[in-house]
Amino acid sequence: MALALTAVTDRVHMAQTPLVNWTLVTGDDGVMLIDAGYPGDRDDVLRSLRELGFGPADVQAILLTHAHVDHFGTAIWFAKTHRTPVYCHADEVGHAKREYLQQAAPADLLMHAWQPRWVKWSLDIVRKGALSHEGIPTAGALTEDVAENLPGRPMAVPTPGHTGGHCSYIVDGVLVSGDALVTGHPLASGTGPQLLHRVFNHDEQACVRSLAALAMLETDVTIPGHGDIWFGPIREAARQASPR
Ligand SMILES: [Zn+2]
Repeated sequence: MALALTAVTDRVHMAQTPLVNWTLVTGDDGVMLIDAGYPGDRDDVLRSLRELGFGPADVQAILLTHAHVDHFGTAIWFAKTHRTPVYCHADEVGHAKREYLQQAAPADLLMHAWQPRWVKWSLDIVRKGALSHEGIPTAGALTEDVAENLPGRPMAVPTPGHTGGHCSYIVDGVLVSGDALVTGHPLASGTGPQLLHRVFNHDEQACVRSLAALAMLETDVTIPGHGDIWFGPIREAARQASPR
């Protein structure tokens, strides 16, 4: 499947695949990933690093917007194989360790199995390792001290709802919104700023509240967890994504 790598700023690069996105932030001593695709996206994650001149050992840290398998899949491998530090919001650490799972259950998805789009997507993600229930035992909470020394000095913007500890980040003026706000998804009927289908959201009302929090930011570029990059004030994206 096609991987597209886009330079958003000098330091921030967006990696986009048809199923999920991740972000690379370059620093003086290496590179940081924000999210890391499915377990089966490892070759593409490594390719995105290589295209920027980095190998897997150059990854200083992986930040997670949340611990769903499509966002942290390849981080499992990095943590195990390269001892890469993996950070997320304090409220997401238990999820990343798989002390519990806040992910749509196969039974929830089966309700939609009559729709060809859902069937194709289900097969695609299973091939990418979506059924893995492996966690990252070494995952830790992102603190100010840690963030200060990471490429791009990421600023955490807690956006719970999609999962209990979902967090967005601002790096180099770019908002990385994860699944708090997306612009497309293989299961979505349209493109543009939106919430994911409610079957994927742990707490739909919290998702709406988090959109309101995002709307107060001053950013003009958004890299979502799924879909195309979005240029424009985040308050406008949040307005479009809010259920009316
Ligand atoms: Zn996702």
